Amino acid sequence: MESLLSRRFPFLPRLASASTRRPPRASSRSGGLSRDPSGSHVVVVGGGLAAAGIASSLSRLAPNATVTILDAGRTVGGRTASLTPREFTFDHGTQYISAKPNCPLTNDIAPLVDANFADYWDDTRVGALSTLDLDSFTPLQNKQLLVGVPSNTAIVHGLLATHAPHATVENSSTVVELVRRDDETWRVLVRVREGGHVWYRPMNADVVLLAVPAGRAVKLLRDAGAEHLADVAANVKYTKSLALVVAFDQTLGLNFNGATLPPEARGLAWVGNDSSKPGRTRADGAECWVAHATPEWSDVHSGADPSEVGAEMLDAFRAVLRIHSEMSTAHCRAFEWGAAFPINAVDSPTFDAAWALGVAGDWTAGPRAADAYRSGLQLGSLAAEHLE
Ligand SMILES: Cc1cc2nc3c(=O)[nH]c(=O)nc-3n(C[C@H](O)[C@H](O)[C@H](O)COP(=O)(O)OP(=O)(O)OC[C@H]3O[C@@H](n4cnc5c(N)ncnc54)[C@H](O)[C@@H]3O)c2cc1C
Repeated sequence: MESLLSRRFPFLPRLASASTRRPPRASSRSGGLSRDPSGSHVVVVGGGLAAAGIASSLSRLAPNATVTILDAGRTVGGRTASLTPREFTFDHGTQYISAKPNCPLTNDIAPLVDANFADYWDDTRVGALSTLDLDSFTPLQNKQLLVGVPSNTAIVHGLLATHAPHATVENSSTVVELVRRDDETWRVLVRVREGGHVWYRPMNADVVLLAVPAGRAVKLLRDAGAEHLADVAANVKYTKSLALVVAFDQTLGLNFNGATLPPEARGLAWVGNDSSKPGRTRADGAECWVAHATPEWSDVHSGADPSEVGAEMLDAFRAVLRIHSEMSTAHCRAFEWGAAFPINAVDSPTFDAAWALGVAGDWTAGPRAADAYRSGLQLGSLAAEHLE
């Protein structure tokens, strides 16, 4: 047993002994489910790209399983979702997904382009400024940059609609507790918010798959008694990221639509014109921009008053991009990502058959959107073996 687990979950033995991995009240059975697999209910906690990968894998490999995705947000997408205050659209997290050969996310997004969930952003106007001279802009060469239509939220929506059409998604549903029962099923307690009301709803599951950031996973796993998985998640650290979303009343007329910035850019790391993404040009000429602060600047300003952070980032934005103070803004807000990019992601997602419990997400793979999705595909495939 130990050698089998070591091969499939190479990092586990360093962190937990076999005895602590055993669920407290379950039998020692660690193989597939004894009940009818057509009746198996898989609950996926989280609704970002990792969850989309899980659902897509299960749809192909365990088509008889019933899959429910519970997401705390008002829409799916997580860090690949968008803000849409008033009539504006901002991708405040993921900016674009680089299409790469042999990449599962690239392959699975391809049909989304035909179905109008995604499109390519003009790569000749996205690149880097090497100095604060705006003429130092160099475009990315021969990259295909995928973005959502009409916003990046459409990416996860499109992946689910295309590759996991039978999965049920429940939004505004935060999982607050997982309890392993004596009969080896799970009781999932969900806090639901709707129209200003909050209530709690218990749900049954045969298998639970967590696709939430590591910090969120730790508490759920510890409360469930799955210390061995909680310890893995607790070890993962993330950078923070402060984002500025700002709508200008008119075009800024810049010679690029997105650029990484040089170190002297007053704490800013990236600026992007979301109105230049396909299908988002505005008839009134207004432009929606997103700026991301560097991890260092974000660390220092984390937790500060959002209006002060927003004002400071807007000052930096205007100074770096030479935007005249008379160029007025119609919307301006700072947003903090407390867990932006994992610094020390572990090697792979984990599925523990004895617990019928698994974890995926960027923190089990790497810092990019494609890593998160791949981790979900892998976890879905491990869970499907268990459901066979
Ligand atoms: C500022 C920023 C910019 C980025 N830019 C890029 C980029 O340009 N290109 C790129 O490839 N990658 C980028 N990334 C990385 C990319 O966003 C992530 O790798 C990816 O979105 C992570 O997906 P995930 O599914 O692992 O997690 P998430 O997207 O965080 O999804 C987790 C989901 O879990 C939900 N959740 C949390 N707790 C609970 C709970 N208890 N119950 C129910 N639901 C819960 C959340 O609501 C969320 O929807 C960026 C990230 C950030 C923060």
